[in-house]
Amino acid sequence: MKITGFETFIVPPRWLFLKIETDEGIVGWGEPIVEGKALTVQTAVHEMMDALVGKDPLRIEDHWQVMYRGGFYRGGPILMSAISGIDQALWDIKGKYYNAPIYQLLGGACRDSIRVYSWVGGDRPDDVGRAALEKKNAGFEAVKMNATEELQFIDSYEKIDQVTERIAAIREAAGPYFGIGVDFHGRVHKPMAKALAKALEPYRLMFIEEPVLPENNEALREIANHTSTPIATGERMFSRWDFKKLLESGYVDIIQPDLSHAGGITECKKIFAMAEAYDVAVAPHCPLGPIALAACLQVDATAYNAVIQEQSLGIHYNQGNDLLDYLDDPSVFGYEDGHVRIPQGPGLGISINEEVVRKMAETGHRWRNPVWRHRDGTVAEW
Ligand SMILES: [Mg+2]
Repeated sequence: MKITGFETFIVPPRWLFLKIETDEGIVGWGEPIVEGKALTVQTAVHEMMDALVGKDPLRIEDHWQVMYRGGFYRGGPILMSAISGIDQALWDIKGKYYNAPIYQLLGGACRDSIRVYSWVGGDRPDDVGRAALEKKNAGFEAVKMNATEELQFIDSYEKIDQVTERIAAIREAAGPYFGIGVDFHGRVHKPMAKALAKALEPYRLMFIEEPVLPENNEALREIANHTSTPIATGERMFSRWDFKKLLESGYVDIIQPDLSHAGGITECKKIFAMAEAYDVAVAPHCPLGPIALAACLQVDATAYNAVIQEQSLGIHYNQGNDLLDYLDDPSVFGYEDGHVRIPQGPGLGISINEEVVRKMAETGHRWRNPVWRHRDGTVAEW
């Protein structure tokens, strides 16, 4: 079998899909995207595919190594996300070729489903409490929310009180054992991260996420010393080499590699296994589309330390188009009792509705990250 060609599709709300074709008629789908940089990643995919067209798609490990090592420069969000989407598509082809879901080719499943969480937004405590209750009534057992809006190095404790009021509202609405994750989103600098982590301690959260930016991961040590809440991070880390120092540090409890950013199925399977050896859990980052989620679920199925999966159904980013819109059979993800079943079809286990993809690619998107500023005019982390 040979790779004969490929196409990329920029589709709303903010995604990029890749379709790889073969001379046996088998096609594979991938989702190579960095949110806000779809055109850049698309270009990187086109550059990398020069080395793959005409080759056997089943030699995934070799293709991964060529894409990673063969370019001399490596790592980072753009190159690793391009590799990720290509890798997903190659695994999709392999699964379809052997008529097996990818998880069977990775050693087989150790679970039938995985717990998922949903996002809640809302500015006022009442809104957040009500939103969490809606999710609970819809069957979810856990939610995640952003902690704060912009926060200065040293900021008012009023903002910390606002966070704790919102978390308290969720606790009151959804009960003492409902799962709550709080995403600091890298918006918080070390001085306030310590204060915020300590203030959130009584609410018995599932985790606090990206308490500081990954480039400041050495600060996790001090934050971990201020709280017993599990610390999660990793959505902006892109390879085993990015994760190794973090895992060695001992100050992370849950890593969150993104299957569309951290080298795809091939690399994330290895990252998950590294984490297991440090007794660290995995909660893959996935605020993205259906192909990325399917890739996550295929690896989650095989990973003993995968504890909970992010998914984007109804997420605030999905204005106009949502997770299930591009699937022939939206029931494939099987949401039930706060869990999603592992898809059982060949490859990624989903069937992409190419007609819808082509139609929506005519619209495309120009999604960009918002730029926030502090009151003094300095740019704020989003
Ligand atoms: Mg996050």
